[in-house]
Amino acid sequence: MQPTYSPEAEAYREKVQAFLAEKLPSNWRGLGALDGDDVSAFVTEWRKTLHEAQYLAPGWPQQYGGAGLSALEQVVVAEEFAKSGVPTGGPNDVFGIQMLGNTLLQWGTEEQKRHYLPRILSGEDTWCQGYSEPNAGSDLSNLALRATLDGDQWILNGQKIWTSAGHLADHIFTLARTDPEAPRHKGISFLLVDMRQPGIEVRPIKMISGASEFNEVFYTDATCAKDEVVGGVNNGWAVAMTLLGYERGEAAATMPVRFQGELDRLLVLAKERGRADEPEIRQRLAWCYSKVQIMRWIGMRTLTQFLAGHHPGPDAGIFKLYWSEYHKVVTELALDLLGAEAMVPSGRPPSSAFQTDSEGAPNSSASWVGTFLGARAGTIYAGSSPIQRNILGEMVLGLPKEPRV
Ligand SMILES: Cc1cc2nc3c(=O)[nH]c(=O)nc-3n(C[C@H](O)[C@H](O)[C@H](O)COP(=O)(O)OP(=O)(O)OC[C@H]3O[C@@H](n4cnc5c(N)ncnc54)[C@H](O)[C@@H]3O)c2cc1C
Repeated sequence: MQPTYSPEAEAYREKVQAFLAEKLPSNWRGLGALDGDDVSAFVTEWRKTLHEAQYLAPGWPQQYGGAGLSALEQVVVAEEFAKSGVPTGGPNDVFGIQMLGNTLLQWGTEEQKRHYLPRILSGEDTWCQGYSEPNAGSDLSNLALRATLDGDQWILNGQKIWTSAGHLADHIFTLARTDPEAPRHKGISFLLVDMRQPGIEVRPIKMISGASEFNEVFYTDATCAKDEVVGGVNNGWAVAMTLLGYERGEAAATMPVRFQGELDRLLVLAKERGRADEPEIRQRLAWCYSKVQIMRWIGMRTLTQFLAGHHPGPDAGIFKLYWSEYHKVVTELALDLLGAEAMVPSGRPPSSAFQTDSEGAPNSSASWVGTFLGARAGTIYAGSSPIQRNILGEMVLGLPKEPRV
């Protein structure tokens, strides 16, 4: 593991810091310091700034609109952005850039890369993820959405569920069963589907917080062109797993920064409430501190591997399991500190229901309660904790496989 950065990396860091100093308002304290409507206005404008500066997908080759940065430079950019509390893109970029774009670079045809990658960056196409179905979540290979070839088109029928930001997207990457006779993992294809057609219906699901961030998506004779398949017909499982590696593993550089910021805010809350001297609270805060430190070291190890050219695979689950389980405990402590106030949350809600609230967020009860609720989902989305443990046991540690029915 390499815990320090080279002089070249530190020199590049200064360039990124200069970019941030030039482009951000002088009184910038992080996205969390902005009020409700100002958040989305800022994110929209900031996304344009990042696009112009080629910072939306800094690691992509320049011919597809990236900056062609080295792995080390990408890490420095991610760290500095996290420290400044600025977003790295818009609400659907995690699907379009981090998941689909990176996967297309690995599996896509030249034509697919040339067509889709620049459109993802310009914001012309916005993507969501069509993996889960009512009977295929952890057991993803059980998926039943059918795609049948009819001339030059795939005809799709079936349903997806839990499609995050699906109501904001105009495209969905869809896992579909294209050979029902083949063994489960072998009859699946990864299709690129335009949602702007009568055969696609998006129905938002209301969450416990009252917001609707994810959806059901229904396909009724929906279509996509024959060549909108990534990685070959009936080879979708391998493509899907590549994408999950990106979904679970990319955050090693930024998560420790964000969780440290959140813990600092929690310490302020404990002091504000006069609870910081209670032995039991101190014990719990110390536990959280140690977890964030360990997270930092796990992150360093992941980054060292990344810099050595290792792309995230099943081992990405280590980090995902660690941060999501930690987050449930730290947010429970926050609610204990708030006491009865947590039952009637008020003030600024979190910028996003996912992970920590943004840098600069106030210690409002609405922020902590929203983050507490989102933290429960963290141990489910991108693969639940029991599933991560199975993957780590079987594919990383080489333990015997769990019994299959
Ligand atoms: C906030 C949020 C956003 C999401 N966004 C998306 C999205 O954009 N696109 C998308 O496709 N999906 C999305 N998902 C779905 C997510 O991937 C699934 O919820 C997840 O994979 C679990 O599947 P499931 O809900 O069907 O639960 P199930 O698979 O039914 O699991 C139920 C319980 O059984 C346990 N379990 C199941 N199998 C095993 C086993 N073999 N060993 C031990 N325990 C087991 C699970 O851990 C869990 O506790 C999202 C989910 C959430 C919560």
